[in-house]
Amino acid sequence: MISALPIAGGSACGVAAMAWAVRGRASAVFGPSVWRGPRERRAVALTFDDGPSEDTPRILEILAAHGVPATFFPCGANVARLPAVARAVAQARHEIGNHGYAHPLCCFRSSRFIEADMARAQQVILEHTGLRPVWFRAPYGVRWFGMRRAQRRLRLQGVTWTVMGYDWNSRAEAIVERMAGRVANGAILCLHDGRELRGQPDIGATIEAVRRLLPLLLERGYKLETVSQLLCPTT
Ligand SMILES: [Zn+2]
Repeated sequence: MISALPIAGGSACGVAAMAWAVRGRASAVFGPSVWRGPRERRAVALTFDDGPSEDTPRILEILAAHGVPATFFPCGANVARLPAVARAVAQARHEIGNHGYAHPLCCFRSSRFIEADMARAQQVILEHTGLRPVWFRAPYGVRWFGMRRAQRRLRLQGVTWTVMGYDWNSRAEAIVERMAGRVANGAILCLHDGRELRGQPDIGATIEAVRRLLPLLLERGYKLETVSQLLCPTT
């Protein structure tokens, strides 16, 4: 569904985000979301939802080895559980977005519930990392009444993804094959460094997929950028 409405205030990077948002796979009722960046630049954004988890540092190591940034959309409750890991993500200069506090499925929830969950995540992320997210990724990608207003009030811009890794139930080879097959200029790639609110989740397939995927993307000439760099290019 194409949204015809521009973002009213609170956009993460002004005109550039707005230009992309109006083309987004977004709902005019539930609030706009951006799902990809410009096709003109050979750049992509690697994103991770549902962290931090005990094994997030293993992903940070791989990113550091290649000297590339990523964008993490942690659950607030996981940040509260593992604040040192969340801090390590921020200190490695990756971008941090908002993925809600308790990873709620927002359909049929009240506007008040939705905004409170998003605000709580915003607060805990700021408290533990010093960063105030400007991007919001709805849990399960599900949008609902009240999200648009909550985003505006919290100054959050919605962002979804171009390619989903389905890494929570796939083997590394399948994840890499899917993502490498569908990647294109401006793509936002979605993986998971946690599994909702589970403690000590097995993210082995994700880690192995990142290990194989990154050199492949770099070999093909893609520049890895944060969501802000991809959607709000300054050059
Ligand atoms: Zn999630």
